[in-house]
Order: sequence, then structure tokens, then C-alpha cells
Amino acid sequence: MTPMTPTSPPLSRLVPEYVRRFTAYIPSKPDDELKKLYGCSRLFRLNNNENALGPPAPAQEVIKCFPAPRASIYPSGDAYHLRIRLGERLEVHPDQILVGNGANEVISFVIKAFCQEGDNIITADKTFAVYEWVAEFSGFEARLVPLQDFRFDDQGMLAQIDDRTKILFVCNPNNPTGSYWSEARLRRFLETVAGRQIVVIDEAYGEFVEDSGFPNSIRLLHEFPNLVVFRTFSKMYGLAGLRIGYLVGDHEVVDVIRRTCVVYSVNSLAQIAAYAALEQDGEHIAKTRDLVREGKELLHREIRNLRLPFVSGAGNFLMVQLPINDGLAYRKLMREGVMVRSMTGFRFPNWIRVTVGQRDAMEALVEGLRKVLTD
Ligand SMILES: *Cc1c(COP(=O)(O)O)cnc(C)c1O
Repeated sequence: MTPMTPTSPPLSRLVPEYVRRFTAYIPSKPDDELKKLYGCSRLFRLNNNENALGPPAPAQEVIKCFPAPRASIYPSGDAYHLRIRLGERLEVHPDQILVGNGANEVISFVIKAFCQEGDNIITADKTFAVYEWVAEFSGFEARLVPLQDFRFDDQGMLAQIDDRTKILFVCNPNNPTGSYWSEARLRRFLETVAGRQIVVIDEAYGEFVEDSGFPNSIRLLHEFPNLVVFRTFSKMYGLAGLRIGYLVGDHEVVDVIRRTCVVYSVNSLAQIAAYAALEQDGEHIAKTRDLVREGKELLHREIRNLRLPFVSGAGNFLMVQLPINDGLAYRKLMREGVMVRSMTGFRFPNWIRVTVGQRDAMEALVEGLRKVLTD
């Protein structure tokens, strides 16, 4: 008798083809590891568009005072109080809001709710990549329409629609180019789509825009019930580490999306911190906008002095084009204690994206760039 050899069949037999094809995203290492790796004593993280001011004061207070025993109790499964507060603020019914573990999670909710085998979504080629990634690793086609002059191309997107298109994702303002559609342009787009697809407007950086032509997208819900708006507490509200964001939509649309929502994914501390962050947030928003405006003025001036092309629009970030490979620039800047986003992954080879923040960080960045250009 031959002994049984425990040879298992290849794992790949279990893995869908679209997962096999997909490459995992590798996040950056923690600060302590990076400092060791690059030999720097301090590190300015300018890679994730975080708010250098942190969360608003009332949220900081709530975080400090979180009663430890509450950690053993499950959070509200549907962020009950936060939704009521947001509903008052946005003048929508709380049931029109779904809160997620960051806006990242609500992207999956929407794609799962509307897409089935053979369907597609449409977005830009150079934008926040998570729409494309979630679609692709879930087995749906992501149609990527090239930006036009660094902007979402409305006509190009409309031309890609077919009868299997379920969702159009528009990042407004766009990460990483900072461009955005005005209310008039968004309205024209929604009129042409005419309710045939879901239109997602991702406003992760909406609170940074100071222009009155920026859409009041929530108000447009009355006219365009196929519209879904994403917001996050990660950027302006400085709560990226607690992971909380939300979507707002028409009752009927949100009732569908709710079915694909994982309850309890938003932790208690995130819920109460977000609630508190909305208290007197006008002051926090004004301070953050001042910081970003001053940071941009400094960077525009210094980057021009360095004779580097750059793209700077709305949001707390800007992009710089370098005469060298962006991966190499990333490593060189790390050695100077400055972490930027290298943009090859966003299909912008030789560009970096930097978060606009406090003066010392901006000065370190400029110094680092000067070094990168001269060695
Ligand atoms: C940061 C970001 C998000 C996601 O933020 P969360 O931290 O998951 O809430 C969504 N969209 C864009 C464009 C972003 O830049």
C-alpha cells in the first residue's frame, strides 16, 4: 500500500480569476520603522492629506475623556446619534445617511449594492483609485476616462456609458489634481444621465473649497434621486485615524445600499468624536483653510523658484512634477525626513503629491526638494 501523501490542490483553484489578477496595495510602514530605515530623526508625513491641526477642540476633548469600560460595549450599529446630528445639519432625514468605516468603506457598500456580473462602473484614469480597485477585485469592469486638462471629462464619461453601466464616480474636488465641477456642470451631467445610473460625488475635500460656484450637492438630491454624496471626517475634521465617513442619498437609493452595509463597522469613539467635531466647526474650518492658504502661497512661490511645474487646485494638497523618477525622489526625500506620495501609482509618473500643512513641514519639503534637484 502506498501511503497517502498530503498534497493539497493548488490554492489558486479557489481564487476567482479577477482576484488572482489583482495586486494587493502595500501601505507605508509605521513612522518608527521608516525613521530607522531612512535614518531620519523626525518625519513629516505629507503623503495622506491629513489635517496638521488635528481634530476640532471638542472632538479632542471627547477622545481624551473616553470612558475605558465603554470599550467592551458594541457601538451603535447604525451611528444613531451622529446620523440625527448630520441630518439636522444637512437638512435631510437621518435615514438618508449611511455611516461607514471611512468613506472607503461606503465605496464598497455602493458597488456591492448595484453591480452584478458583467456590470461596469465609470470614473477617471487619474483619481482616487479605490473606486477602480473595489470594482476590479469584486469582478466588475472599471472604465477609466482620461482627465482632460487635469479635470474629470464629463462628455468622455457620458460616452462610455452602456446598458451595463451602474455607477459613475466623480471625485469633486479631484484627488490628486484639485479640479472640481461647478454646480452648473454637475447639474448638466446629472440631466444627461437622467437617472439611468447612480452618480456618486465624492466630496472628501468639499470643506476646503471656498468658491460659491462649488455645488451644494445635498440640495440637488431633491431633483436627482440617483445622486449619492460621499463625505469623510478624515480630511478637514482631522479624524483619519478613527476611520469614519458617510454617504447621503435619496431614501429609496439608501434603502438599497443599506442591505450591503456591515453593521458595527464604525467604532464608538469614532462616532462620538465625529459628533463632537461638528460642534463649532466653523472656527476649525476657517483655521484649517487659513493654514492651507498660507502653505500653498509658500509652496507656489518656492516651487516656482525651483522651476518645477506644479498643479494646485482645491483641497489640502498639490502635485509637483520632477525631472527624476518619483520613486527615487520619494526615497531621497525620506532621508530628509519628508514623506510625500509618489504618483506613478496614480498614473502620473515623475510627479509627487504633497499635503499642504504647517510651516515647518513646508520648509522641510522645500529644502528636501532643493537637495533632490541638486544631488
Ligand atoms: C481620503 C479620501 C477618501 C477616504 O477617506 P476615508 O479616510 O476612508 O474616509 C475618499 N475619497 C477621497 C478622494 C479621498 O482622498
